[in-house]
Amino acid sequence: MTDSPTIFARILDGEIPCHRIYEDDHVLSFLDVGPLTRGHTLVIPKERKAFLHELSDEAGAALGRALPRIARAVRAATGCEHYNVLQNNGAPAHQAVFHVHFHIIPRVGDEGLGIGWSPGSLDDGESLAAAIRQHLESSSS
Ligand code: AMP
Repeated sequence: MTDSPTIFARILDGEIPCHRIYEDDHVLSFLDVGPLTRGHTLVIPKERKAFLHELSDEAGAALGRALPRIARAVRAATGCEHYNVLQNNGAPAHQAVFHVHFHIIPRVGDEGLGIGWSPGSLDDGESLAAAIRQHLESSSS
């Protein structure tokens, strides 16, 4: 990770073109340049943060408002019934661009997001939930 502007910051600054889908005061959405399937769309905050947990409530709320609307439009335009929403945080979690972004990825037959999912067992649910609750309660937002 470097301090130089990310590719998405450069799109926000108008230095690099994109296939724009949606824009409001807090959010920009455009087509992914390397789509997993037709209609693969990115939704980004205008706030320049690398990770989801760094976003302000305002940016988070704006993303939450925009995502279902954009998902409906992607479904309608591509005819896909099913889709995944993906949001990666950190290089080990497959993040390549260090500006928060949500992928909306149509699932078309076998094509779309490949997922490896190996469920474990929840052995310490009570104490873990309590620990997370405690951090939520001790943070102001
Ligand atoms: P991630 O691995 O979650 O960081 O995904 C980054 C995504 O950004 C990839 O799916 C890329 O194809 C996409 N991407 C990178 N550069 C551009 C660009 N200039 N315009 C649109 N999408 C881009």
